[in-house]
Order: sequence, then C-alpha cells, then structure tokens
Amino acid sequence: MSEKERARVLPGDALAVSEEYLPGNHAYDADGTIRALQAGIVVKDMAQREINVKSEVVPKIPSVGDVVTGQIEVAQTSTSNLKILYLNGKPTESGFVGIIFLREERGGRGMRRTAVKLGDVVRAKVISTMNAMIHLSIGEPHLGVIASLCSNCGRPLAAAGSRAQCTNCGNVEDRKFADDFGREPVQP
Ligand SMILES: [Zn+2]
Repeated sequence: MSEKERARVLPGDALAVSEEYLPGNHAYDADGTIRALQAGIVVKDMAQREINVKSEVVPKIPSVGDVVTGQIEVAQTSTSNLKILYLNGKPTESGFVGIIFLREERGGRGMRRTAVKLGDVVRAKVISTMNAMIHLSIGEPHLGVIASLCSNCGRPLAAAGSRAQCTNCGNVEDRKFADDFGREPVQP
C-alpha cells in the first residue's frame, strides 16, 4: 500500500486530520482537518509529524509596499508574528516571518480590541524592512484577518457586520478584519 507522498494539491484541499499531523509549511488546521494554503506538492515529515505543501516558486524577499498573506504563529499583547505564505498573492517558500505592531492597529473608539489571534490568516502590507525585520501593517480596509476560527469551538467564523460570528456556537468575536473577510474561497 503506497501513500501519495507527492500528491499535488490546491489551496483548501484536505491533506490529513489533525490527530495524525500538525500543519507545517503552507498548511493550516481548520476544524480538525489539515488543509493546503497553496498549490504544490504534499511533503510529509514523519519525524515532526508535520504535513507540508511545497511549491517550486523561487523565494523573493518582501520589500516595502508588498502585500503578504500568512498565518499568525505568535500573538502577544503588543506584537504578533505572521508566518508569510504568500507574497503579492503568489505562494512563497521563503519562510519569512513578519511582525505586526498591534498598538498601531487598535480601533479608535477608546476600546482596546483584539486585532489578530493565533492561527488567524492575515493579509498585511510591508511598511519597513529596516534591521532585516519585516514590519507589517494591517490598517487599510483590504488588510487584516481574512480567515479565522472560533476561539470557543474551533469552527470557521463567518462575517457579521464589523465583527464575526461562529455559525456553530454563536460566539461573536472582534478582530481587525479585511473587507473581504468571510468570503470563500480565501484570496491571499
Ligand atoms: Zn464556535
């Protein structure tokens, strides 16, 4: 019995269940299913129990003005790290991580809001690459969270006005959403 180790997949394709594998590069965990974030070839790392999607696109270093899309891998109070998976809408193998300074991205209603959370898929713009740090902004309307899972039950959140609501448990969540949040399929 041979496993399809080098199967070609498209964004959104199911790769495995999360009991079996962790999402590696260009893969994400959606409701217990590991799915591909980009087109490419499936590469399984048995040692790390990770499933990756590898593309043959040559890495390019992001520069100021570029739009990147990726997944939040570290979310802290004042900064979040975005694992960059797309550069200007095209898959990138770079493995670059950008940093979002959330203090600059809070709402102006005198209320502190959660801009991004761990695991969110976010579209951001490169505003500086000083000191080899990719500094990202999500301030513009088309930037911000484009896909997110419910903090309560893990199902995908749906757009509900300026917020998002879980269609499963009704949980309402606040983020800095992009103007196309909740639209399917997700466009990097
Ligand atoms: Zn929920």
